[in-house]
Amino acid sequence: MQKQSELYRGKSKTVYHTEKKDYLIIKFRDEISANNGIKVKQLSRKGTLNNKINYFIMTKLQENGIPTHIEELISKNEVLVKNLKMIPVEFVLRNLAEGSLVKRLNIQKGTILNPPIFELFLKNDVQCDPMINESYCETFGWINKNTLIDIHMITLKINKVLSKLFSDIGIILVDFKLEFGMIDNQIVLGDEFSPDTARLWNKENMEKMDKDLFREDSGEIIQAYESVGYRLGIEFN
Ligand code: 5GP
Repeated sequence: MQKQSELYRGKSKTVYHTEKKDYLIIKFRDEISANNGIKVKQLSRKGTLNNKINYFIMTKLQENGIPTHIEELISKNEVLVKNLKMIPVEFVLRNLAEGSLVKRLNIQKGTILNPPIFELFLKNDVQCDPMINESYCETFGWINKNTLIDIHMITLKINKVLSKLFSDIGIILVDFKLEFGMIDNQIVLGDEFSPDTARLWNKENMEKMDKDLFREDSGEIIQAYESVGYRLGIEFN
């Protein structure tokens, strides 16, 4: 399938129509951004790293019975996906305290969260993705109650599969963000799962291997992403 007109240009990915309306092509660009797009940098090879890590993770999830939008890797930085009717909400799962949770509640970084915390944020760049809850979703019609219950269960299952996958290669899955969409009343995982959208800590020394390195200017981003990929057994060339 071929790329046609641009549907959407995000901060690090561009989505294209294809000749079939049920399929889209996502291009992972070599950009990294933080602070709602205020801090931006061009990083050679980042698009390839995230495309391949995302494809690997989504395929693993599919093998574990979780429907995803992934169809086929079509180039080093492009993937063919199903066209979903996206839900305008970001779903965050937290195993350890970091980031906005630490800021909001002033709790110790790294505190183990048991059971894991599930949070909802409205996808809205202008409002900087504000935190919302189930009641907002129902009142404003963003998601119905039963879909939200199902998404919570799917997110917990994803957490179980991926926490083990990462733990087996010496990485702690601290937290992550997911986006879902619908096809014919079925909930399908969309967007991406990569070190841009998850916090990953090296078990050995608790060093960060994710986008926090860029947010905090605290280390070599490409080296860290590459190391995540190599540990997962991904070939990048
Ligand atoms: P926090 O709410 O602590 O900033 O983020 C929680 C988790 O969700 C982190 O793994 C973070 O990378 C991810 N996350 C939340 N919102 C976004 C977003 O808008 N973009 C990206 N790339 N990741 C996000």
